[in-house]
Amino acid sequence: MHRILIVEDERDIADLIAFNLQRAGYEAIKAYDGIEGTEVALRERPDLILLDLMLPGRDGYSVFRELRRDPRTVNTPVIMLTARAQTEDRIQGLEAGADDYLTKPFSPKELMLRVQAVLKRFDPTPGAVDFSYGPFRFDKNAQKFYLDSVPTDLTTTEFKLMLFLCERPGKAQDRNELLRSVWGYSDAAHSRTLDTHMKRLRNKLGEHGTWVETVRGIGYCVTKSDA
Ligand code: CA
Repeated sequence: MHRILIVEDERDIADLIAFNLQRAGYEAIKAYDGIEGTEVALRERPDLILLDLMLPGRDGYSVFRELRRDPRTVNTPVIMLTARAQTEDRIQGLEAGADDYLTKPFSPKELMLRVQAVLKRFDPTPGAVDFSYGPFRFDKNAQKFYLDSVPTDLTTTEFKLMLFLCERPGKAQDRNELLRSVWGYSDAAHSRTLDTHMKRLRNKLGEHGTWVETVRGIGYCVTKSDA
């Protein structure tokens, strides 16, 4: 059973989310401020975190950054909850590396779809759990990435993007396909963050960054580079 941590100071919202998660067969844990949320996340190591951004004690972005710094939660998927409907705020969350966001108020059905989509992305892929292409190796079970056999930290989003491209070498992948591979759907806010993620990914690949090519008007492609 998947365990999901809800970090949300509005108790009625936290209770409502927990109720819906439990009804769908998940185990729900609650924390009511940013400090408690951080502690519980590190201690309990949930499978997924629903993180409100406006929190007393410590805001959601600060909590998120600490969780991404800690090896215990570096790969834990996070869905940000925000009352701020502006596209810029959503983009900020995605660029920070959140796996998805939900704008309040959201319906229980929408919440469940997002939770299921994110958990599905993080479940071990059936079949080969180890995959290599060129200097890149992926351990799909552990979500670990190796560059020339050296463990290299990728965010979960970067890992998904890189794996998707490497499993389809030499073929340009269009932006919408890439977005769907990572977020389960595509929309304008996600599309705007794709290039940021790809840029960061390329930097982490160092000299091998040239394997990732921008295909103008389409999207991206991983291919053996001549450089
Ligand atoms: Ca709040």
